[in-house]
Amino acid sequence: MIAEDAIVSVDSRQRIILFNEGAEKIFGYAQHEILGQNLDILVPEANRKNHADHLRRFANSETRARRMGQRDEIFGLRKDGTQFPMEASICAIGHDDELVFTAILRDISRRKEQTEELRRAKEIAESADYAKSMFLANMSHEIRTPLNAVVGMTSLLLDTRLSDEQHDCAETIRASSEALLNIINDILDYSKIETDKLELENYTFDLRNCIEESLDLVSPVAAKKQLNLAYMIDDEVPATIVSDVTRLRQVLVNLLSNATKFTLRGEVVIKVEAERLPEENTYRLRFSVSDTGIGIAADEIDKLFKPFNQLDISTTRKFGGSGLGLAISRRLVEIMGGRIWLESEPGQGSTFHFDIVAQAGGQDLAHSFLREHAGELTGRKILIVDDNVTNRRILVKQSLLWGMLPSATASGIEALDLVRHGDSFDLAVLDMSMPEMDGLELARRIRQHRSATNLPLIMLTSLSKRLESDSVDELGFSAYLNKPVKTGQLMEALKAALGVEKRAGRRSAAVAFDETLAQRNPLRILVAEDNAINQKVVQQLLQKFGYRADIVSDGVEALSALERQDYDLVLMDLHMPEMDGLTAATEIQQRYSPPQRPRVVPMTANVLPGDREACGEAGMQDFLAKPIDIDHLYRILCNLDPGPSREIPADVTDHAAADIDFERLDMIRETPSDGDQNLLAWVIDTFLEDLDERLPRMRDLAERADWKALAEEAHRLYSSASNLGLVRISNICMQLELEAANAEVDKVGLVQELVAAWQSVLPELERQKALDQ
Ligand code: ADP
Repeated sequence: MIAEDAIVSVDSRQRIILFNEGAEKIFGYAQHEILGQNLDILVPEANRKNHADHLRRFANSETRARRMGQRDEIFGLRKDGTQFPMEASICAIGHDDELVFTAILRDISRRKEQTEELRRAKEIAESADYAKSMFLANMSHEIRTPLNAVVGMTSLLLDTRLSDEQHDCAETIRASSEALLNIINDILDYSKIETDKLELENYTFDLRNCIEESLDLVSPVAAKKQLNLAYMIDDEVPATIVSDVTRLRQVLVNLLSNATKFTLRGEVVIKVEAERLPEENTYRLRFSVSDTGIGIAADEIDKLFKPFNQLDISTTRKFGGSGLGLAISRRLVEIMGGRIWLESEPGQGSTFHFDIVAQAGGQDLAHSFLREHAGELTGRKILIVDDNVTNRRILVKQSLLWGMLPSATASGIEALDLVRHGDSFDLAVLDMSMPEMDGLELARRIRQHRSATNLPLIMLTSLSKRLESDSVDELGFSAYLNKPVKTGQLMEALKAALGVEKRAGRRSAAVAFDETLAQRNPLRILVAEDNAINQKVVQQLLQKFGYRADIVSDGVEALSALERQDYDLVLMDLHMPEMDGLTAATEIQQRYSPPQRPRVVPMTANVLPGDREACGEAGMQDFLAKPIDIDHLYRILCNLDPGPSREIPADVTDHAAADIDFERLDMIRETPSDGDQNLLAWVIDTFLEDLDERLPRMRDLAERADWKALAEEAHRLYSSASNLGLVRISNICMQLELEAANAEVDKVGLVQELVAAWQSVLPELERQKALDQ
């Protein structure tokens, strides 16, 4: 290309002394016409002054050296009087009067035209896309409104007396309209992303939680198909990250639901790895979701991430779906700074990978918190029996991390052999569904050799396999864990089995399965929540208690649902488009007076300072934090004015109940003590004394921004509070400990919450003490 470039040199008086062939072509002058002329002849009139200034400045500057000085876009003047844009590299050689400027010039008019054409074409395409997306967004709103009515009315209908056949019809209408709503929500979401209306919310969250919640959403389907669900988090992965938890979960759930949908047998596994990036505290997190399903042919892969693309119309009919999940996932991942790709082999299965860039929320790595708390698990011998190799690997890795000594085997026979002739194990974890000898049979045989105190057993089951309680009690299992095994729960169960922490973990499992609550305590529930995944989470949790909730996507829809029919309870997300939860609650408070007014409970993922007060003013009660704690939801469901005929459990009517785990108190109460003083009273007194000193100290540390010391204090308080079953206090402490270093978290606010939590449990603790004396 150089030969086509113009090379022009001028002396210190701007006379042209060199003019090459390229210059002749570009400017239209022959060499002999131009040599000796003033450079101005090549510069458009309007630019001449500028141009001369420019050269002068360049000549005087320090940087002119003897190499290329500057790259600039300027204009040239042809012999025929036309102007054109050029790109110039200029250098200056020599001194003062001897100074020679040489410029290499290139005509870039064609390039500019092309860029301009491209820009125009892109603009047109984008405006068409934008119009399409806006249309989709509007349409989905229009469709959703009447559809909400269909869903709502069917639930009313389902509550009336119906013949079996009518009931079936109504159930089908309900299920189909919910499926339709889901598709519409996908479309809306997609168009929101396309029109760049999507804003990520960035705050610190626990990565393990996010993964476990995503798995929870697909576990009923996986259990029905007997698929093995599992997750593995690498050692280098930070425990908390700063990102958008809802969107990350949405991508994970999309991939997980596809994986479970297109897999008939085998397993679905999530893996997370992390790579540290040069920027401080920043990681590239790589997630993968792999399945052993039908797989995808190589030539189909490119089509996958396009919207409305389903590979095989017949499978679509079989499996359902909008064909938008992957298109949405791809956009979300890109917005979070990463990309998504896959490997797949037809008939063997697929692995979808994606990565995101995020900052760590603190110093802890995913395993460190639990590792630090492994305590007395260290050195214990554990036998792991599971026919699934992924599960075995996860369990072995986990127990090694906690300093345990694992032996693992795939078969019941071998396990039995080990128990009879091998090491003396401290405890064993058995998988329920294994070929040949299942977990129950294995347990039965083990019990012929080892008693429950000799060898505690923990059973892993999938949701679909509810165990017959009689046979189970007989075998004296110390815990049943649902798959996918959650690391925190596993640790609690192991500790409980070894008697390190008695009865821990049992309570929530019992609550989780109270499917009869809805019969004993019927409620009409409306959920207002804009995010589709969160909608499913809430709906599924409510289903576990036997409730069928109606779902709407914003405040406006919530109000129109209330106009249409009565609800007892509204679970109201605070951050929603169109009309937020606070505004909607205020409206409800104004429009309805008791007893017509439903109880409105706010839900939010991140409580901003002042949120609680604002919610109180808007007539909302309690506060349901996301991720939703099952116990807390249970209490909210029970805490409603039950009406004369409805039975509710005795200890949950008390408001302080939400903050205290009474079983824990009872456990301490029942623990034999040899001193004069009653143990519970002593523990409470010691705790309160400690708190008296510790709280002011924590407030001080928070104000002085001494995060390290604050985290330590929080950690100590966490242990004593959780020991006493003070749920809220220990939760706040945990948050303080994990997020002490996170600048975005209001620590002073958290300490204030701690004080409030303390004040709210104080009377109850005094009462409990008095009960014992
Ligand atoms: P849909 O809502 O229909 O599942 P997606 O965009 O999520 O839409 O997926 C598009 C298509 O990609 C699916 O219909 C299916 O044909 C294919 N697909 C996605 N995930 C998998 C998987 N794990 N195994 C096999 N096929 C898959």
